[in-house]
Amino acid sequence: LHIVLFSGMLQASDYAFGPEHVVQIKQLLGSNELRPGDRVVLEDGTYTGWEQFDFYAHGTSGLPVTFKARNPGKVVFSGAMGLRLYGEHLLLDGFVFREAWAVRGNLIDFRKEAGICAYYSRITNCVIDNCNDPAKEGSTSSENWIVLHGTYNRIDHCYFARKQVAGIIVQVWLDANGERYNNYHRIDHNFFGERAPLNANGAEIFRIGHSWSSQFPSCSIVEDNVFYHCDGENETISVKSCRNVVRRNLFYETRGSITLRHGHDNLVESNVFIGNNLKNTMGIRIINQGHKVYNNYLQDITGTGSNAAMVVRMGVYEKPTSETDLKKEPLVSYHRVVDVDIAYNTFVNCALIEFGQGCGDKEPRNVRFANNLISSSDVESNITVSNPAVFPGIKCFNNYVSFREGTDFSMEGFTRMPFVFEKPATGASRGIYRLRNEVRAELAGGFDYISMDATGSPRTDNVTPGAVQFSSQGKRFNIVRFDDCGPGWYEPLKKDFEDITQKTTF
Ligand code: CA
Repeated sequence: LHIVLFSGMLQASDYAFGPEHVVQIKQLLGSNELRPGDRVVLEDGTYTGWEQFDFYAHGTSGLPVTFKARNPGKVVFSGAMGLRLYGEHLLLDGFVFREAWAVRGNLIDFRKEAGICAYYSRITNCVIDNCNDPAKEGSTSSENWIVLHGTYNRIDHCYFARKQVAGIIVQVWLDANGERYNNYHRIDHNFFGERAPLNANGAEIFRIGHSWSSQFPSCSIVEDNVFYHCDGENETISVKSCRNVVRRNLFYETRGSITLRHGHDNLVESNVFIGNNLKNTMGIRIINQGHKVYNNYLQDITGTGSNAAMVVRMGVYEKPTSETDLKKEPLVSYHRVVDVDIAYNTFVNCALIEFGQGCGDKEPRNVRFANNLISSSDVESNITVSNPAVFPGIKCFNNYVSFREGTDFSMEGFTRMPFVFEKPATGASRGIYRLRNEVRAELAGGFDYISMDATGSPRTDNVTPGAVQFSSQGKRFNIVRFDDCGPGWYEPLKKDFEDITQKTTF
């Protein structure tokens, strides 16, 4: 079936296929004969027998080359497959990958081979659910679902869940075009659903870079995503490169952290963690240099040690440079924390905040922990100094805490004040807590770059510590709206949305 469309001077084609045409679809997608604006459209049905195949074409910014479902959600890919995208302006839209698995290491790969990558390409409105190679279950063999190469690629409005085999859901590689950095990928408005504990490393949901490329900037953005019961391992997002942004994501009952594992100058802003006191729920773990961590809200997080609500780790080595020889300071190790801001975060009923966790004798330097709001009304204190050498390298000031009454907590930089967070009286019983009484404080300057709070309101009234100004009480957190996240047509998603939305709105 071949329908020719005319659009001004440009001639674009629609090619329509059914499940019996897998051989023809593969031939056309890999032929490099598709032109800007062409669309390869699949009719409803389950498509199998793919094996390895390529989507190679050159679209333009106004006229991408599209591979899509006629009816989103009605086209299912199953069985062994490996899709390689390369070229420019490719668009994948509306497919469900279910009980499919990778013929080689990756289900979907944004390159053909080293240096031949996809650019300005996008996967949107797709589902990858329960895709596990039956031969790999229970083994240590791994496979990745999506591997991003190239630059300016985007994954948005997709749903991912039930990955059981080891391997990453989205892995970013820093090897664009023979260079190794500046990817500018964007991953937004996705729903990352259930992933059971692997009980081993290598089950991250999202990893940006590798240790070997960690000193280079990726400049990728992970924003407005939901991570729901992502329990594969203790790093839900593992940042292993520089100058990335992780913001406005919701981590709901997820037993994993944002870990700034390698690389520098990353931004972690306005994320919401709701642990609901499930065992081993975690927050943010900080290693390396130049990070800014602010406006994050963490509630009912139970993890301790390296899995605490906030961890500032000891270093084993200095920041590697070409002068000091990377090989003498192994990139897989832990490097000194330097020049990090942790400001305007709120911690409600979190088990622990850890300063100086882990092995190593390189204490943090020039870390500012300021203007944070900490409430754990059942304990004497939830702040742990695992290694006294962290002071004065960690400078604490203008933090406000509310701990159990009748105890004598005293720590420089923390002002004790009676304030109460309470569960909302209406709606679901496990929602975001509300601060009942205003905490007016003398806050420190020096954070002018934090111009808004976690609800997106301007910080005009600069007297309230924590992620949300008191004057913003009643406003919604500036995290993704559930209706705007993932494909709207996927049923498991809708069920979860109705449930969680009740719990994340004031
Ligand atoms: Ca890991």
